[in-house]
Formats: sequence, C-alpha cells, structure tokens
Amino acid sequence: MLEHFVFDGLPMRVVFGDGTLSELPIEVERLGCRRVLVLCTPEQRDQAAMVSERLGARAAGIFDQATMHTPVTVTEAALAVVREHDVDGVVSVGGGSTTGLGKAIALRTDLPQVAIPTTYAGSEMTPILGETKDGEKITQRTRKVLPETTIYDISLTLTLPPSISATSGMNAIAHAVEALYAEERNPIISLMAEAAIGALARALPVIVADPQDREARGEALYGAWLCGVALGSVGMALHHKLCHVLGGSFDLPHAPTHTVILPHAVAYNAPGAPEAMARVARALGAEDAATGLYDLAVRLNAPLSLSAIGMKEADLERAVTLAAARPYPNPRPLEAEALRRLLQNAYIGRRPEMEAL
Ligand code: NAD
Repeated sequence: MLEHFVFDGLPMRVVFGDGTLSELPIEVERLGCRRVLVLCTPEQRDQAAMVSERLGARAAGIFDQATMHTPVTVTEAALAVVREHDVDGVVSVGGGSTTGLGKAIALRTDLPQVAIPTTYAGSEMTPILGETKDGEKITQRTRKVLPETTIYDISLTLTLPPSISATSGMNAIAHAVEALYAEERNPIISLMAEAAIGALARALPVIVADPQDREARGEALYGAWLCGVALGSVGMALHHKLCHVLGGSFDLPHAPTHTVILPHAVAYNAPGAPEAMARVARALGAEDAATGLYDLAVRLNAPLSLSAIGMKEADLERAVTLAAARPYPNPRPLEAEALRRLLQNAYIGRRPEMEAL
C-alpha cells in the first residue's frame, strides 16, 4: 500500500542530447534575452569562448572567475560587469561552482539563467544556493535561483577528467541515495533516484576506462540530471549534513568528500531504512548498499579515506560534535558514539560493515 506523500514538482525546461549547445541561441531568444553574460571558471575559459561564439551578438562578454563555494566577493565583481554591460541574462557553463555564481546573480537581479552543466553535481536542478562570506557558508532555498533552462550537452562532458568524473558521479549518487530515505520522499522521486543510481553505476566505470565513450557519458549525464531533481525536490539527511560540516569547517574538497563519506553514511542508516537500502543495492547490482557503494568507488579509483583528501585525525572529534549539534531528520537517530565510529572508518577508508557501527 502507498504511504501518504506530497509531491511538489519544481519547474524545469531541459534540453538533453549530444551537440545540444547548437540550440543555445534559440533558448536564449525564447527567454527574450539580448545581452547575456557567459560565466565559467578560469579553467573552462575555452568552453566559455565556444559558448560565446555560438551566441554571436547576443553575448555581452565572459566572466571567468567562478570558484568553489560561491564567495560573495566574486558575485559582487560579476554584478559590476552585469551593470556595466547592461546584461539581461546569464549563461553558466561548468560545474556546481559556475552554476552557483549564476544562481547568486539571479538571486540579486532576477535575471533569467541558462545552465549548461559540465559535471554531475546537479545544482542546476535545485532551488538551493550556498554562499560564503567572511569564511562562513550560508545556504538558502528559494525558487528565485532555479535556472529557467538547462541544456545538457553530452559532448561538453567529454573533457571532464576521469578522476573528477568519478567523484562528481559519486556526489550525484549521494543525492539519489538520500532521496530514497528522505523524510519527504515520494514515489516519483524514488523512481528517478533508483534509475539514476543504476545509470551512474553502469556508466562511471566505463567513463573512467574511456572518458571519450559517448554512450556512457550520455547515461551518466542523464543520471546526474535525475539526481539533481532528487536533491532539489526532497530533503537530505546524515550524509549531506556530514559532507557540509567537513567541507565547511575543514575545507575538504566537495565531490571527493561525498565519495568517501557515502558508503559509511549508508552503513550507518541501513538499519533505519531497509526498503531504501534494498533499492540502492538493486540499482547497483550489489548484495548490499553500503559495500556496493564502497566497491564502486574502488572500481573508479576514487579516494576512499578522509586522510587521503586532507582531513586531520585531530579534527575528527570536532566533526562529531558539529554533526550531532543540531538535530535534523534522519532515518536512524544520531548517536555520538556511532558517528565517531563512522568518521573513524571513513578516516582510514575501511570497507563498511554494518555490524561495526
Ligand atoms: P566545480 O564546478 O568546482 O568543478 C571542478 C573543476 O572541474 C573546475 O576546475 C571546473 O572548471 C572543472 N570542470 C568542470 N567541468 C569540466 C569539463 N567538462 N571539462 C573539464 N573541466 C571541467 O565542481 P562541482 O563538484 O561540479 O561543484 C562543486 C560546487 O557546487 C560546490 O561549491 C558545491 O557546494 C556546489 N553544489 C551546489 C549544489 C546546489 O544544489 N546548490 C549541488 C551540488 C554542488
């Protein structure tokens, strides 16, 4: 029997395929924009130049200073360019860092956004914006930051290095896994989440072996889209909270942190969410969700331990305190001793075993 649920769908227009960048001028026209600013990181300047070329006279310029965690100082510099060139829309080409900058501009100006994601982070599908000011990260939820249009172009992801593809893909899987046991879970998002885990689990090992495999790239990008919808539609739990604490307080890299923590957070939550775990395992083609995720990370040559991505053992205790500090919905109650074991296991990169927690 179906449980009671609420499905609150987010508006989205998605153009998906190989070579869909060619549709950018039509999409910009559809939004009524005449002078758009192209956003990117310094590393993706070439891709932004390609995008700008497609736009021809509709491109007002390129702002190439997007960076992790959306610092307000960078947003202010971009806003100065927006004003100076009388910009009436933004096009973000890149991963979550660039999409974040587009969202921060939209929050302050209401300008329409076209997102062209080139990683699997999924930010383009969420009404969530995390910004940093004076070393503090503040996250808010508002539909004002949702991009009006998202263009997924498989060919733009071919350059994503195998190591970033692996961790970015595991980051996406984490959204889908937590959506399956989120407090606001619902059957539609759960369908998407299970399909997404399956798509990414099939595609990522192929991509790591051959980053130019277009079929696998397409399947991964499709999975990432669904994961983004899941992240934007239902609340997250322990895993995302832990990654937020570790990234924010200890300056650990976003996607690798998700990769390391996921199997351990899942092992922790397994007793509280047996149905969700069965779906994760089924999607992975594994016997067990937590070990299946760990083994996937092994196959992807992804980092497996917090120590390998810059965490100091001396900081683990503070991480436990921060993670347990403010209560939030989670399928298993937060117990300091079990959280400590979880982080210890993640610190050394031990293959999870449910009994160990
Ligand atoms: P990123 O955007 O920082 O990209 C990582 C690096 O890969 C950058 O140097 C980028 O230029 C490069 N890159 C991206 N695509 C490439 C490609 N196709 N080819 C070559 N290089 C490429 O990393 P990310 O993991 O996508 O995003 C992380 C940020 O996004 C964090 O700040 C995180 O908090 C945020 N995020 C926000 C949400 C949300 O819903 N608000 C969701 C997920 C992530």
